[in-house]
Amino acid sequence: MKVVLANPRGFCAGVDRAIEIVQRALARTDEPVYVRHEIVHNRRVVDDLHAKGAVFVEEPDQAPTGAQLIYSAHGVSPAVRRVTEKRGLRPIDATCPLVTKVHREVHRMRREGLDIVMIGHAGHVEVEGTMGQAPGAMYLVEKPGDVAGLEVRDASRLGCVTQTTLSVDDTREVMNALKARFPSIELPRRDDICYATQNRQNAVKELAAQAELVLIVGAPASSNSNRLVEVATKLGVPSYLITEAADIDAAWIEGLDCVGVSAGASTPEFLVAQVVEHLCALAGDDSTIESLPVIDEGMHFKLPPELRD
Ligand code: SF4
Repeated sequence: MKVVLANPRGFCAGVDRAIEIVQRALARTDEPVYVRHEIVHNRRVVDDLHAKGAVFVEEPDQAPTGAQLIYSAHGVSPAVRRVTEKRGLRPIDATCPLVTKVHREVHRMRREGLDIVMIGHAGHVEVEGTMGQAPGAMYLVEKPGDVAGLEVRDASRLGCVTQTTLSVDDTREVMNALKARFPSIELPRRDDICYATQNRQNAVKELAAQAELVLIVGAPASSNSNRLVEVATKLGVPSYLITEAADIDAAWIEGLDCVGVSAGASTPEFLVAQVVEHLCALAGDDSTIESLPVIDEGMHFKLPPELRD
């Protein structure tokens, strides 16, 4: 059996930066460092940082007065920042710059008098942070079918932003539905779906062209990992989300000649390596490993000033 690895896969620049922020903050103090929400959606990453002294909380009022509090890569609303300040916490912002860019778009549209439709998944922490940028002036839709029932204050004064980790193809359908119902809506110039999400989806499309099964290594809470499963499934290739090698059911690969493997943007590479090793062990001695051509995504985000060398 042949195992083909997608490229790019795994960590993106925003996840690299967020993890480095926590590591640097821990290295600079003997006190516990508090982190709001999972810094990135991966249990192994979170457990590793916890073992090094990070304390994960869901809200700022769970951290003691005066403590350092790191905001996760998914971003926070101004309401969370206000609670942090009120409690005398010392915030460090690990929000991915590409999420911050979407927040800035929301603020610009509000200054221009627009209400904003966000395309995203209800309950996702990034969506809560972005919707919280303009409470009372934003509407959330997830799929094209949500658009028909959307009640807005002024159909002629609308803008649109999206969650950064959506399916590119599905989002285009929702935007088309919005444009059909609200012709003057200002859609994102380039959609807000980030480079890492787009590149990983394109790579899974390439995998799906040759593999009979696509395995995505990622956490159930990871939006971009779930979208990768959907991309392969929509192309007619069975696909499963797995958190680690032990999740693989040997029956999935019985009789297959080619299995594709990719990973969401918050998945460490060692988990991918373990999955490949396990697949090869199950498939037997004649298994081979190939990789799609390596792509340099050329992205690197600066650390916050207080943590730079
Ligand atoms: S998936 Fe995209 S938006 Fe999210 S942290 Fe990575 S680069 Fe930033």
